[in-house]
Amino acid sequence: MSDIVYADQPETILYEHPNEKSSPRNHVLLGTWLRVLERQNNWLNVEPRPNRGDGGWVSKNEVRNDPGLKIFFVDVGQGDGAIIESAKGIIVIDGGPNSNFYRFMRHRYKPIIQEQGHVHIDAIVVSHPDDDHFHGLTRLIEDDDFTFGTIYHNGIIRYSGNAGKELDLGIFRNRTISGKDVRVLTETFNSIEDAGDLVDNGHLMSRFNDFWLAAWNAHVDGRLARVHRITNRDKTLSGYSGTQSTLRIEVLGPVPTQRSGRIEYVGFPPPENPKGQASKSHTINGHSIVLKLIYGEHSFLFSGDLNIPAEKHLLAHYGSKNPFRVNIAKACHHGSSDFSVAFLKKVLPQVNVFSSGEERGHDHPMPDALGAAGHHTRGSLPLLFSTELARTAGASRTHYGLINARSNGAVLTMAQMKERRTARTRDVWNSFTVPWKGRFHKESS
Ligand SMILES: [Zn+2]
Repeated sequence: MSDIVYADQPETILYEHPNEKSSPRNHVLLGTWLRVLERQNNWLNVEPRPNRGDGGWVSKNEVRNDPGLKIFFVDVGQGDGAIIESAKGIIVIDGGPNSNFYRFMRHRYKPIIQEQGHVHIDAIVVSHPDDDHFHGLTRLIEDDDFTFGTIYHNGIIRYSGNAGKELDLGIFRNRTISGKDVRVLTETFNSIEDAGDLVDNGHLMSRFNDFWLAAWNAHVDGRLARVHRITNRDKTLSGYSGTQSTLRIEVLGPVPTQRSGRIEYVGFPPPENPKGQASKSHTINGHSIVLKLIYGEHSFLFSGDLNIPAEKHLLAHYGSKNPFRVNIAKACHHGSSDFSVAFLKKVLPQVNVFSSGEERGHDHPMPDALGAAGHHTRGSLPLLFSTELARTAGASRTHYGLINARSNGAVLTMAQMKERRTARTRDVWNSFTVPWKGRFHKESS
């Protein structure tokens, strides 16, 4: 057994002495990193990373050598930001509108930065180019304690209002698709060189410009290897095309209007006028990158800010196939009312995670989205998490509403922090195995 092991129980208990009758000193979640300090028969004296609570004794049967899969839904306020950790590396999906995500990254990887000098992020996925998904990543990309493999994006450009572009997005053309005349966005970008040209030419929306300027500088510094536009044509994320035992990531969207050749995206209208003109926000949101993660027996759907016309577009593309069924789904568009029940019925998860904030001007999550997500699930005790509900505002400080998903391939757990913590055991987590059997009733699902 190596000097680093990982907790392998939904809540692994670290004891004061090498026996189960001694006092518990810490509960750690499935997959928690533990350094072995001492061995005694079937017991290990271990310590978590700094700031993760006390160390203690753990039975060898309750740890393993593989870190498994960890997903952090970070409370970024009104927006999305998630971190995926596996034996293959770290992936970031969106980074919120503010500094929350960056501060969490600094906090989480501080021990690694101290040990190794830097942290490598295998991939950043920008689901779509709206502030509440990419703006918080700019500072991360500027921080030279981090290096990056690939930034994936959907290719949509955000021009400023004076660039003279249709919907401030680029060049649209008329196309006839399934007998209907539609406006189609034909201008997108792909590589870091394309991004550099866009920045050089000016005319970009300021925050979009800041993001790609940061990416360009990181590339010139040798801290960012590549930038790549992805669509369903890619099928899987590069390096994640293997079997589910090592984490497989499938790219289900966006779906361009043609199967090959130039990438073109249909302009989506708003739901209140489904036969009307394409709308900027619906076109940007509707072509969000949709990823399905598969690890062991478990699967996870990240679908950005999909809306009704986009969900219909995806359902029409996949027809009788259903690649959307997963165990855990991030709710689309922060719980907007702009969702289709037909799509929810395809996803049919056991767990929904809503990522939203309490800032004024955003009513997410909406009651119909919460109710429908709760209704269209598998099992009699589905779980519904919300970063906004998990947040605790104390008199002196705010505890942000971090949501955890952990899998070792066979066991899946979800956790959020307790509002009141038990100091003695540093028992900070409310954790839930999936499928959940109930805290008190032990009902079958
Ligand atoms: Zn959003």
